[in-house]
Amino acid sequence: MCGVLASIIMLLCGCTSTKSVAPLNVALEEDYIPLQEEVWAIAQADSLHETLLSKGMVVKDEQADALFLTVKHRLLKDQPQIAEHIRIYLLRSPDANAAALPNGIIYIHAGLFPILDNEDQLAAIIGHEIAHVVDRHSLRAVINQKNTFIGAHVADLMTGGLGLVYFPALASLSSFSREQEEEADMQAVIWLQAAGYQPEAAIEVFRNFTTIPGAQHNQASIYSSHPSQQQRIASLEQQLSVKEATPSPSPDLSPEFLAVRVTQTEAVVEMHLRDHRYILAETDLDRIAGNLPQQSRVEYYRGEIDFGRARNPGDATREAYWIQSGKTNFSSANYALFENQKDQNLQQAVLHFNLAANGEPQQVNAMKRLGEVYLYQGDNQEAVNWLRRYLNTAPDAGDARYVNSLIKKAQNTNTRKEIES
Ligand SMILES: [Zn+2]
Repeated sequence: MCGVLASIIMLLCGCTSTKSVAPLNVALEEDYIPLQEEVWAIAQADSLHETLLSKGMVVKDEQADALFLTVKHRLLKDQPQIAEHIRIYLLRSPDANAAALPNGIIYIHAGLFPILDNEDQLAAIIGHEIAHVVDRHSLRAVINQKNTFIGAHVADLMTGGLGLVYFPALASLSSFSREQEEEADMQAVIWLQAAGYQPEAAIEVFRNFTTIPGAQHNQASIYSSHPSQQQRIASLEQQLSVKEATPSPSPDLSPEFLAVRVTQTEAVVEMHLRDHRYILAETDLDRIAGNLPQQSRVEYYRGEIDFGRARNPGDATREAYWIQSGKTNFSSANYALFENQKDQNLQQAVLHFNLAANGEPQQVNAMKRLGEVYLYQGDNQEAVNWLRRYLNTAPDAGDARYVNSLIKKAQNTNTRKEIES
């Protein structure tokens, strides 16, 4: 397959030279005639966006879209033509990342929201990505990195079109030179100041990134793969210190920002749970636990984390080991450690699901989970009680058939059953 891939790439990449690329303000003029490579790169970006849309990876979220618009127009208040060219989308991805495409599209991954404290920090990231577009770094990156870009498209066709291989393509677009990164950082600070945002937010996002468990091993994220982080922080500090001593405004804790942060962080917790990343789910849940309007929902997620660990000790081990070491080849001794914590995790799950099921408001799914946990533990009578309570509380549940089958199982057998994840 590699040989086939390589030859397709060779065919598609006839030219590798980089001609000088016009600045964006010139390129946006009506009589501008783009280079052939430019037309090609923009078509590639358009097609990538279409694919992400068709695969449901671009999230339509009114609150988030409105927030992105607000930030964009604040940052680009003096450049309406560029503001019109830039389009910002929310990407259904749990990674703390962002990307800028040569066609003016910026993706903010949902996984950024857990580590953003305020609108200023979001503006710092958006400003940085806008600068990559305005300085046409993204365009140059695509022209120079045709292999990765086309490779991702071809590989996706060959792997059944799951779309996940597009993330390496996005990441490759974020691998700019140190000079380009510093240029984008500096520009972001200028826009932040002009917009009345706290310019220090540009430095704070670096610090927040280090609070992600395992961030030091993550090569695919903007703030880890960006070269010479310390150098960038030092340059930003220098830039901020030479500015005249005007006091920075307070960070913007707009209700719009806080609402999007909570909603998206909750969505990211669910993505982590689905992918069996329990430490990451727990870390992100802790970040918003005090802000979720329903505390019974927090208990439900805590139950999900414990029940998930009990059912998937191998994945729990793999995650913990990776966060600790950056490696995935763990020994059976590590595995045994998590396997031995199974009963403890099940007990914890029961405690949390009980609080959720009896909380205000009652979390219906916690009732089903209690049925599943008890069935898993072999306490069939208690399992039947909770599963019936689930069906009584949610008579229209879409999974009523599955739950009824669990009840039947529980009534017919005394053996521990495998539960649907
Ligand atoms: Zn960058």
